[in-house]
Amino acid sequence: MKRIYLSLGSNVGDRVSHIRKACELLPTAGIVVRRVSSCYKTEPVDFAPQRWFVNCVIEAETDLMPLQLLKALQSLERRLGRRPGISKGPRPIDIDILLYENVVVRSSALTIPHERLAERRFVLVPLGELASHVRHPVTQRTVLEMLHETTDMSQVIRLKSE
Ligand code: AMP
Repeated sequence: MKRIYLSLGSNVGDRVSHIRKACELLPTAGIVVRRVSSCYKTEPVDFAPQRWFVNCVIEAETDLMPLQLLKALQSLERRLGRRPGISKGPRPIDIDILLYENVVVRSSALTIPHERLAERRFVLVPLGELASHVRHPVTQRTVLEMLHETTDMSQVIRLKSE
C-alpha cells in the first residue's frame, strides 16, 4: 500500500457534512483512511467572491496507481454532487492529491506533488497537523518549512471539534 495525503474542501451547503461523507466513501474507492486533520474555515484564494471553504487533509493508504487514484476521486466527487462548472468556483466537494509517497508525476492530467501545495495555507496548515516533517520530494522542504516560507496570507481558522 502507498501512503498518500489528500486535501478535501467544500463551500456549498453543509460543508462539514460533505467532508464527512467523502471520508466515509473513500474506502469504497479503494482508499483506506488512516488519519484526518481538524477541519478549518478558510478564505477563498483563487476566486474570491464566494463563500468561505471548510478544508481538511487526510492521510490514507491505497494500492491504486496515481492516475487510477485521480479517476476514483473524480468519480467520488461526482457521487457527492459535484458538477462540471467553474473549476475554482463553488463546489460541494473538491478532493486533490497532495502527495503520493515520494512519487513525482508531471502530466497534463495530473501533477504530484500538487502544483500549488507550497502556496496554499489552507492545505499546509491541516497537512502540518498530520505530517509537519514530511518532505516535498522535489524541493526537499518539509511541510513546516513550506508553511513558514509561504507568501499566502489568507485566513485559516480551526473549527472546534464536536
Ligand atoms: P479542480 O477543479 O481544482 O478539482 O481541478 C481538477 C483538475 O486538476 C483535474 O482535471 C485534474 O486532472 C487536475 N489535477 C492535476 N493535478 C492534480 C492533483 N494532484 N489532484 C487533483 N487534481 C489534479
